[in-house]
Amino acid sequence: MSKVWNFKQELTAAFGMPIAENPTQYMMEAAYRAKGLEWRYLSLEVSPEGLRDAVLGARAMGFRGFNCTIPHKVAVIEHLDGLGESAELMGAVNCVVRRGDQLIGENTDGKGFVQSLKELRDPAGADVTILGAGGAARAISVELGLAGAKRITIVNRGETRGRTLTELLNNRAKISAEFVPWEGEYRISETTDVLINATSIGLFPDVDARVPLDYQRLQQGLVVADVIPNPPNTQLVKVARERGCQVIDGKGMLVNQGVLGFRYWTGEDPDPAVMHGALDEVFG
Ligand code: NDP
Repeated sequence: MSKVWNFKQELTAAFGMPIAENPTQYMMEAAYRAKGLEWRYLSLEVSPEGLRDAVLGARAMGFRGFNCTIPHKVAVIEHLDGLGESAELMGAVNCVVRRGDQLIGENTDGKGFVQSLKELRDPAGADVTILGAGGAARAISVELGLAGAKRITIVNRGETRGRTLTELLNNRAKISAEFVPWEGEYRISETTDVLINATSIGLFPDVDARVPLDYQRLQQGLVVADVIPNPPNTQLVKVARERGCQVIDGKGMLVNQGVLGFRYWTGEDPDPAVMHGALDEVFG
């Protein structure tokens, strides 16, 4: 039996859920069962001091890969043998894949998002506004740039994080990006094609939290995406649907990053409908 290892250090922070109800584990194991694979996806808590030993353990025990989340996404890199292109640009890994006898770091967060977006429109040539400048915004913006987005506006409350991400996009990833400090109700520009909430506003239990935006600017034709997986039907998602926008929710992104991990680890394609169904059970 092969094992896929998931060290979810701060699941409650990442998904607003206790570790026993790890939605990713539930989703991945449902996908393995549906394919008739006798694989496991385990949630293991690893302290920052234990990270090196944990990766050595994964090597020694022949794990096919693992996901990692906050606070390990950057720190794990020094324990790996190489990085995929976007993980290298982002400087962050959420998915490790055994290739031969090497452990290679990939980042599926942004790729999962881009896949969701492609179901609605081609990212190539798009003018994109991203709210937030944390790990999710970083992963999404780099992948959008690699997929040919024309221009990215990063809107963030904290200036340092916002400027750091914008510099990374302009200088390392060669993506045209601008930083705008987030003060009051943000008015997206009329040229925006895709608006993404990549902040944690709306994450369980703060389900009624409102993203400070001028909602009059949400018009038909605009694609509005929210990364919050729990609950997927955020206040922003609801308003955007009411106003006739095309909407992507965080559940689709979570499924898509799981699909990519599944493919990296097993070489097979899972059934996304099974994964959506499993998340619906977890998120109620
Ligand atoms: P980080 O902690 O790295 O970043 C959080 C971001 O949210 C920062 O830009 C922060 O701004 C901003 N923010 C938080 N609260 C507020 C607020 N009240 N007003 C304005 N800005 C705020 O987190 P991540 O980027 O890793 O994760 C963000 C969200 O994305 C999480 O909810 C996570 O669940 C979700 N996610 C979803 C995935 C999926 O597959 N659906 C995958 C990965 C993440 P500042 O810098 O000013 O503090």
